[in-house]
Amino acid sequence: MDKHVIIIGSGLGGLTCGYILAKNGYRVSLFEKNARLGGCLQTFTRGGAKFETGMHYIGGMDPGQNLHRFFRYLSLLPDVELCALDRMAYDVISIAGKRFAFANGQENFVETLAQHFPGERNNLQNYYRTIEQVALHSPLYTLQYSPSLNLLNPDYIKKSADALIASTIGHPLLRQVVAGNVPLYAGVEGRTSFYIHAFINHFYNQSACRIVGGSAVIAQSLVRSIRAMGGSVHAASPVAAIHCDREKATGISLENKEKIAGDYIISGIHPLRTIELLETPLIRKAYRDRILKLKHTASNFTVYIRFKKAAVRYLNSNFYHYNGDRVYGCENYTQQDWPKGFLYMHHCSSPAPEYAESAVILSYMNFEEVARWQGTRTGNRGADYEEFKRRKAERLLDALEQQLPGTRSGIAQYYTSTPLTYLDYTGTEEGSMYGRLRDCSEPVQNVVSQRTKVPNLFLAGQNTNSHGALGVIIGAIITSGELLGVRTIMQQIKE
Ligand SMILES: Cc1cc2nc3c(=O)[nH]c(=O)nc-3n(C[C@H](O)[C@H](O)[C@H](O)COP(=O)(O)OP(=O)(O)OC[C@H]3O[C@@H](n4cnc5c(N)ncnc54)[C@H](O)[C@@H]3O)c2cc1C
Repeated sequence: MDKHVIIIGSGLGGLTCGYILAKNGYRVSLFEKNARLGGCLQTFTRGGAKFETGMHYIGGMDPGQNLHRFFRYLSLLPDVELCALDRMAYDVISIAGKRFAFANGQENFVETLAQHFPGERNNLQNYYRTIEQVALHSPLYTLQYSPSLNLLNPDYIKKSADALIASTIGHPLLRQVVAGNVPLYAGVEGRTSFYIHAFINHFYNQSACRIVGGSAVIAQSLVRSIRAMGGSVHAASPVAAIHCDREKATGISLENKEKIAGDYIISGIHPLRTIELLETPLIRKAYRDRILKLKHTASNFTVYIRFKKAAVRYLNSNFYHYNGDRVYGCENYTQQDWPKGFLYMHHCSSPAPEYAESAVILSYMNFEEVARWQGTRTGNRGADYEEFKRRKAERLLDALEQQLPGTRSGIAQYYTSTPLTYLDYTGTEEGSMYGRLRDCSEPVQNVVSQRTKVPNLFLAGQNTNSHGALGVIIGAIITSGELLGVRTIMQQIKE
């Protein structure tokens, strides 16, 4: 066959498409703008400690579960070592001065929360059944092929997560608790569709783990496999333009002016960045306008903590804290009440660590706070930017210390990132964490299809299907399916 596929971006979306297509006989050439490959699959090292930037934990990794089956297909299992999170408390939700654990498996999940809310046992069971119903109706999530890939009940798309939870759960605090890991999808009250909440919660409730050494091992493994199958992967190679003739895309130009011809192009970068690379009447103004108007999920400020040796015990749970009694609305803050909440996670440096080597604290941050430094270069943004970050970091560290006393004294050093870091590093709009908002009030307008009006140009990555390990891999299967047929890929996965 030997058709040439050009892939733009080495995030999980681009790499997964590269793997699938190389495995199926396509000649793959992948171009990444950064010196380091992987996009959000990025682990960096400072002072000897490793830090995770964009994939802190994954789910569905017990043998037979969905992500495990995808990882097996992608030849990732030998390279990815896992560190299971506490099965009885993989997520801990700290709200209204109390703590609530999410436990793996339906029964454990319901029983653990019912201990705090005994009158809500039946409601919790109904809530969990609804989550399961959504997840198990998706043919790609369950690997049961169906010609229609979208069997979702429209109610779950058109209803917001908080509205559907409120219609199932009676106790006001429990409604907030079950939505306590909302930063995983940057959900917005009244806006984010219930199905996103359902998929993510089902995914992690099957099983939840960190990746030993960090998620960069996923990117490294996929790059090795693509190269071993004859593909080429190029770092530090920004794509500057996608060329088209009257009917189709013909190739790309790199920033260094080199031109590369291709039979197909897959863009694994943000759709806004993709249309900036395109000048063709095939892409109509209406499409451009719609992409320009996409609404996005929030960005964040992160503190990367390096601990002193043997100073802080490894925490085998993810800790979600909220100042008040509400999990929603933390992205609407003032200078006085920020941070309204945060997510705190330890990095897993070995299979069963006793002490933590490093950790992250994430809290929402709006792009306006850093907009005045846009256009400056990382490391050279100025003293006022450094001071801004220091002040923010100190507030987050104070908030953490209040919840987990003694942590501060264990800190050797900390580093920070802002929405600008994400914008500059991955090109995601305004540093948005998860790309477009899955908005229940505009379910059609905010959709990004893998197809474009350029017949041989396809999109991949978190803005197409969904974000996260599972969402992006499933999206890449749908995108690669445009060339191979989704059924063929699913067959291969099952084998
Ligand atoms: C803070 C944070 C925490 C997260 N935590 C988790 C988690 O715990 N679990 C989970 O499953 N998911 C998590 N996610 C989500 C997950 O990381 C992403 O959904 C996923 O990795 C996105 O992959 P992608 O392929 O869409 O894009 P990206 O990873 O953004 O990759 C796009 C790539 O394209 C490159 N690029 C851009 N423009 C060009 C150009 N012109 N030429 C060449 N290359 C270009 C970029 O440099 C980048 O490498 C998190 C995300 C964030 C931001």
